[in-house]
Amino acid sequence: MRRPLMIRGGRALRYGAAMPELLDIRIGGDGRIVEIGPSLAASDTEILAVDGQLVLPGVVDMHQHLDKSRTRALLDNPSGTLMGASAAYRALAPSITKEQMIARARRTVEACSAYGTVAIRSHTNIDPQTGVRGIEAMVELRAQCAAFMRIQIVGHVTSGATSMLPESDAWLRQAIDLGIDAIGGVPAFSSEPVALLKLLFDSAERSGLPLDMHIDEHLDAGRAMFSELAKMTRAYGMAGRVVAGHSSALSAMAPDEAQRTIDELREAGVGIVTLPAANLFLQGRDAGRLPPRGLTRVKELLAAGIPVAAASDNIQDPFVPTGSGDLLEIARWTLLAGHFGLGDLRQGFEMVSTVPAQMIGLGADWGIRQGARADLLIARADTIDEMVASGALERTVMVEGRVVFSTSVQRH
Ligand SMILES: [Zn+2]
Repeated sequence: MRRPLMIRGGRALRYGAAMPELLDIRIGGDGRIVEIGPSLAASDTEILAVDGQLVLPGVVDMHQHLDKSRTRALLDNPSGTLMGASAAYRALAPSITKEQMIARARRTVEACSAYGTVAIRSHTNIDPQTGVRGIEAMVELRAQCAAFMRIQIVGHVTSGATSMLPESDAWLRQAIDLGIDAIGGVPAFSSEPVALLKLLFDSAERSGLPLDMHIDEHLDAGRAMFSELAKMTRAYGMAGRVVAGHSSALSAMAPDEAQRTIDELREAGVGIVTLPAANLFLQGRDAGRLPPRGLTRVKELLAAGIPVAAASDNIQDPFVPTGSGDLLEIARWTLLAGHFGLGDLRQGFEMVSTVPAQMIGLGADWGIRQGARADLLIARADTIDEMVASGALERTVMVEGRVVFSTSVQRH
């Protein structure tokens, strides 16, 4: 056990509060928040004076692909499309060793940590080229990084595996035995999309794991799977435990059809993750004019009361060639490409904090509240809106009460 720590003089965003307040936070030797209040008495505590900085919960990047991260320089995607990216990675994948995958992923995890991310959910390929090798690598990475990042692994049935149902069933069973945290895949890639969707639901039911899938990452409203997804979510009794990533095709539907679909998703209890980086890069390249943004109908989904998170998706690979690991940058792109308003920056912060924390099941263990892990982003900014708008040059990231990154203290 370490000596207890007091964060003194910060403007802290208490869980559930609308605005930050001048509050001290006492952190126990186990790295959990013991007490929150104004001017707490300090006895036998180390003091971290933060001098009016914002004290926020660390942000949660609920959709990445760490297994592919930083492969950009090793391949090309001349068409710039999703299919082009998938083919490029398929050609490279057999030659990647576990060690290389871990080393590249770790650089991304460290970059994300430096910007204030405290949890990452990583979709990890299950494909014919690599089987569950990526899952094995990510299990190792999860253990290596545990002191500064909570990593969740999604078994992501993709590429050719989407049309190999018996093999994918066996790979998923192996992945579950290896310790994945969620089940996922890309039904739209499959020659039998509904059968693959059912396989993923069956795996989730058998293992008790939640579902987090890539749903309709394309702009063809005619082959959208939302109704099937809503139907199965109800049939399997999985309300609140199913996440649909991308859902781009929703924006290709006529407004009344989109609204009916949104109602179905809400009634079924499906959560949505929007991934603006990949959508802006990959979608709409065949448009001769006015290329679409490719994002789902973020505002309409939020207006319907459906939880919507925003996340990085790919970082420096054939799917997205850029990416710093700064999740607030993704919040910015969501606000811009999603046509939000000047008063919506705080909503952008929720989409990378409270909403994904709930969706990936961190529950009462996350947020500035008594008993939760002290996973915090302490930043020099006047307001949360300003923080979302421009980021903070001066910041300290804390995980379980320990400083893991600071603009003035080097990582150790
Ligand atoms: Zn993805």
